[in-house]
Amino acid sequence: MNRDVQAELGELLGPGRIRQPRGFEQAVARVVLEPAGLDEMGELMRVCERDRITIAPIGACRTLRHLRTHPVDAAISLNHLADVISHEPDDMTVAVGAGITLGALEAALGRHGQHLPVDPPLPEQTTVGAMLGAAQGGPLRLSAGSVRDFLIGVQFVGHGGSAVRGGGRVVKNVAGYDLMKVMIGSFGTLGIITEATFKVTPLPEVYAMALSYHANLNDAFEAGFQLHDALPLLHLEILSPGLRTPMARDGRYLLAAGMGGNRKDVDYQIDQIRRTLAGIAVAEGEEAQRFYSAVRDVELPAAAIRMQLSVMPREMPSCLNGLAVQFRAHAGSGVAQVAFEGGAEAAAQLRRAAAQARGHARVLALDPALRGAIAFFDQPAAGVMKLMARLKAAFDPAGIFNPGCFVGGL
Ligand SMILES: Cc1cc2nc3c(=O)[nH]c(=O)nc-3n(C[C@H](O)[C@H](O)[C@H](O)COP(=O)(O)OP(=O)(O)OC[C@H]3O[C@@H](n4cnc5c(N)ncnc54)[C@H](O)[C@@H]3O)c2cc1C
Repeated sequence: MNRDVQAELGELLGPGRIRQPRGFEQAVARVVLEPAGLDEMGELMRVCERDRITIAPIGACRTLRHLRTHPVDAAISLNHLADVISHEPDDMTVAVGAGITLGALEAALGRHGQHLPVDPPLPEQTTVGAMLGAAQGGPLRLSAGSVRDFLIGVQFVGHGGSAVRGGGRVVKNVAGYDLMKVMIGSFGTLGIITEATFKVTPLPEVYAMALSYHANLNDAFEAGFQLHDALPLLHLEILSPGLRTPMARDGRYLLAAGMGGNRKDVDYQIDQIRRTLAGIAVAEGEEAQRFYSAVRDVELPAAAIRMQLSVMPREMPSCLNGLAVQFRAHAGSGVAQVAFEGGAEAAAQLRRAAAQARGHARVLALDPALRGAIAFFDQPAAGVMKLMARLKAAFDPAGIFNPGCFVGGL
């Protein structure tokens, strides 16, 4: 981007809303723009389309810094679109600016005994826009479902600079095309999500976590599946021995199962869980909350390859065995984040195992030396790819939205 264009964008946005990239942003963009509202965002899109200025909406750039091989001209931060727009506790819906963090959203909902049961790691750093853009989730997916099940309305600014709405602010609405599903997991390649409306749920009155330790991977999964068959768990996590949490024990696989409900429900579940699995420990109250945050936020070790695997839950042990991986598995949902050493062949081996288990694997982070050798996304079938290319061309004819960062290099 030449200096004239930068100056024009600076004029458009007003003082203080165009700045140099900081930290992870430096790998993502040459400059960061922080539009104050929808009008500015729309104007900005028109100028960027006209001048073919490439852009990427950003959250904390933890994913983007791995995904982008070279910086876009400008990152769009939604810092100034980060409010709770409306919260209707009786209707159990909330509308927010996409720049709000999940931490701030949970704090606002928690005052009314409610929450959005979508729980990716590190909610204080995760914006709603990035959660939707990268289709993130966490332990509660087992009992609650994924973000697709909670997003009832979305607004985004894309081609032409106009704000487009899909869905609405009420749980039941007839809304034509399902734009929500298109935007979830679009990685900023179709437009910039500016607002999202979710249905929310009551927080469980009581939360408890059952913990058990296992000598090998198969035993840990077998115990997990036994619990899953016996009880309606909130979540079911299995962590490999190398991951650091306050509950970890040297050399043992950790199984952490969540239970929730009223006091009577949880007492019943604890009783059942003790009957199902001998030697299981149960944490409650603040300790259980602390342990839950630890399994939700656990960091994978800094290995050459980090990937997310999604397969049929029962197939997960066979995908993980034999690869010498460190992992955190949402065992009941069939999703795991795995870290391992090796090169392109090791990644291909995991992808083959995932495909055989009727699933897929996507890269979360790679050693820079491997960047050109391993694709971030699985390659879809030719017909699907054609459809995706047409969708991209319709939403982004100028090719300015996070180019090259999606399936098949779209
Ligand atoms: C080591 C590692 C471990 C991870 N572990 C997990 C895990 O356990 N569970 C899990 O769910 N995920 C995991 N992820 C992936 C997860 O998606 C990201 O780490 C992260 O939370 C998203 O990155 P971010 O919040 O920094 O957002 P960014 O990287 O800034 O953005 C993420 C994507 O969303 C897009 N985006 C941001 N804002 C908007 C918007 N307003 N409109 C449209 N698109 C937007 C961006 O363009 C980008 O493509 C992991 C990633 C890494 C690198």
